[in-house]
Amino acid sequence: MQRIRMIIQGAVQGVGFRPFVYRLAGELNLTGTVANTGGGVITEVQGPRAAVSTFIRRVVSEAPPVSHITSSSMEDRPPRPTEKGFVILHSDDSQEKTVTILPDISTCPYCLREIFAPRDRRHGYAFTNCTNCGPRFSIINDLPYDRPNTEMRAFTQCPRCEAEYGDPADRRFHAQPNACGLCGPRLRFSREGVEDDQDPLAGAVLLLAEGGILALKGIGGYQLLCDARSEPAVQELRRRKQREEKPLAVMFPSLDLAKKHCHMNAAEEALLQSPAAPIVLLRREAGDLAPAVAPGNPDLGVMLPYSPLHHLLMARLDFPVVCTSGNQHDEPIAFREDDARRRLAPLADAFLTHDRPIARHLDDSVARVTSRGEQYFRRARGYAPLPLRLQHSGPKVLAVGAHLKNTIAIAFNDQVILSQHIGDLSTPEAHDAFKQVVADLPRLYDFTPELVACDRHPDYLSSQYAHGLGLPVLEVQHHHAHVAAVLAEHQPAGPVLGAAWDGTGLGDDDTVWGGEFLLCAGAGYERVAWLDTFPLVGGDAAAREPRRSALGLLYELGWPVNFPHGLTPEELAVLHQALAQGINTVMTTSIGRLFDGVAALLDLRQLTAFEGQSAMALEFAAKGKLGPAYPFELKDSIDWRPMVKAIINDRDRGVAVGEISARFHGTLVEWLVAVARRVGVKQVALSGGCFQNRLLWEGGAERLEAAGFEVLLPRHLPVNDGAIAAGQAWVAGVR
Ligand code: ZN
Ligand code: ZN
Ligand code: FE
Repeated sequence: MQRIRMIIQGAVQGVGFRPFVYRLAGELNLTGTVANTGGGVITEVQGPRAAVSTFIRRVVSEAPPVSHITSSSMEDRPPRPTEKGFVILHSDDSQEKTVTILPDISTCPYCLREIFAPRDRRHGYAFTNCTNCGPRFSIINDLPYDRPNTEMRAFTQCPRCEAEYGDPADRRFHAQPNACGLCGPRLRFSREGVEDDQDPLAGAVLLLAEGGILALKGIGGYQLLCDARSEPAVQELRRRKQREEKPLAVMFPSLDLAKKHCHMNAAEEALLQSPAAPIVLLRREAGDLAPAVAPGNPDLGVMLPYSPLHHLLMARLDFPVVCTSGNQHDEPIAFREDDARRRLAPLADAFLTHDRPIARHLDDSVARVTSRGEQYFRRARGYAPLPLRLQHSGPKVLAVGAHLKNTIAIAFNDQVILSQHIGDLSTPEAHDAFKQVVADLPRLYDFTPELVACDRHPDYLSSQYAHGLGLPVLEVQHHHAHVAAVLAEHQPAGPVLGAAWDGTGLGDDDTVWGGEFLLCAGAGYERVAWLDTFPLVGGDAAAREPRRSALGLLYELGWPVNFPHGLTPEELAVLHQALAQGINTVMTTSIGRLFDGVAALLDLRQLTAFEGQSAMALEFAAKGKLGPAYPFELKDSIDWRPMVKAIINDRDRGVAVGEISARFHGTLVEWLVAVARRVGVKQVALSGGCFQNRLLWEGGAERLEAAGFEVLLPRHLPVNDGAIAAGQAWVAGVR
């Protein structure tokens, strides 16, 4: 007779782990207990030695599909000769809160079948879920993950739901959000002040079919929907959202219909249908979508229904809808009922809502499948707050991220937990969202920071927040944090050359960096190469006006202004004088601004409606091809002058813009190889917003590998500033 105690940690709550343990113990005729605690699942089993060994093996090898065990430990316990049976104990919240909180999981095939089965008691029920699927992070208020600690606490289960919840053999055993039409959350539809509780979906379907705009309360916040085939509807949505040209995502009712509009390979299909169910960027092919959905963009952000509510609505619509965050401009997504009613009233013609509160905002995540694996642009619903595991344990660090695409991170023990996407901290609403998340995430994990890490830019709201906490502050240089985020994911043993290319970040010399090569070892780095500087007039305005980057490049060359900038002679004279006298002018090494400058010289864009628009236009012009490199010179820095001169000459000779762009991209890829060769370190990491560019990401990795280097790319973290907080936390931990 043997008795052991096992502590199992990882994503083991809310995934049917206890019933699994219960069934396994029953099958092996073992007695004992299992309990959820803040520190993981703890089980004690007792029985013949051989059966206990089998249990230990199978509890790991046969764990439920959505669970993820990160560690398990075991000890012998004195046998209890009188013990009978196996029991599931009540949760205990005395342990340290290290358990993994699961992200929200898209509707599983079993639940999907039920909501469309006419005789099932959950037929048509929009809040169906089980231990394999359903809301998690979006409803958790506290650990451990038990119903009273979730937004389901207000709903008392009916006898039949209660029976499922209590039956270890049932798929819904201890499924915390378990509910049915009798006892669970209810849908509500309201249009022009008139409520319809009888058939709320019917009102929503009618509105969308009429070309109206619907505010829908989803998993992590409100979404705005309209018929994606109707140009007037999409135009109207853009007008109300004040979103002129930035691409909108589309939800298709089925995979088949999505395939009729976009090219899709097996990996893309799998990602679309994964438990995280992100927006996946796909190459557009044909179809009947309104041009205003994604003007001038060969790609389309595609998603499939991921909650029962989305499934039920989309099945009745049977046409694609634009599905975008419920907000104005780039404000954070609205998720509280009162706030949504107030903020979205001017944007939506009707509301499809319900009475299950959302605990925290979670935007739809955005990803793409490349030849180098998945690439993330926005990490939120379906991914947050899965931890990043480190090989070492560090101090308790709160990292507050940068300014654009802000996220925060907390690090404790051997893990870094990156928050969901918060957004650009430029509006009061975004600042509020930042403060909410920076209070929420530490509270959930009972986390008190010993140290706070931030960007070294003193004007970022995140940096100012960090300095106001009264804790020791570690400022981490922006591009170092970019590379560090990649290091945190790969944890390489030796030094790594990191290429950090983006729009802007404050450098150690107080100039604006953005084309950096950093040799990273331990918590330190050496800046070993960079793009030669050029002047940029007008700070923030420069990011919105690519023509200002072009003016800076031409000024530096001493060349005449010979592109269709659209400025009046007076405006041009003012800018020229500012450049000449260094007024309101910064020196920059930014590759993002180099993209802007070249795009303006080629007259692809003189002004942009959203961040990255001109770089995207330049990328799209190349049509997926890298051309032969233009001449360049590598000294300490990379001299861009020969390339820009050649580009202007080509343009003036009438060479096609697509060909020039292909050669521009080809040149940048060769810069990576040339610097890597000179530095001579085996591993090269690519990071920063510029690598959202598929040609740089795939082409850069390919050429570096062909030249004998090993390439490290972001895997699960965003390639852009969304990963900065993770990098900051990693640097602080190592230091
Ligand atoms: Zn399910
Ligand atoms: Zn019920
Ligand atoms: Fe950046």
